[in-house]
Amino acid sequence: MSTEKPTPTRVEPLSNTELQIHWNTGDAFALSYEELRFECPCAMCVDEKTGKRMIRRESIPAGIRVLGAQGVGRYAIQFNWSDRHSTGMYHFDTLRALCELAGRRL
Ligand SMILES: [Zn+2]
Repeated sequence: MSTEKPTPTRVEPLSNTELQIHWNTGDAFALSYEELRFECPCAMCVDEKTGKRMIRRESIPAGIRVLGAQGVGRYAIQFNWSDRHSTGMYHFDTLRALCELAGRRL
């Protein structure tokens, strides 16, 4: 069994509403942009001290999508959102958990 940490190998738009994330573990998930945006881990979206989510689901613009993504070191991905938000760094562990929890297996 591999002890390698799950790492995204390919992150691409799947449709107007979903992002596809392929993993080095050989599986892939579709994740809704809205869900991914809602789960943004940055200090504007989540209170760092209490962990309380500051962003509200209703405040996410309809048709939200990812315009671009770049790797941060070898541990996270930063997304550029269509609502001009881009401060969130999604750690691979968080992204993987989100895929398994809220994603659709491809
Ligand atoms: Zn954020």
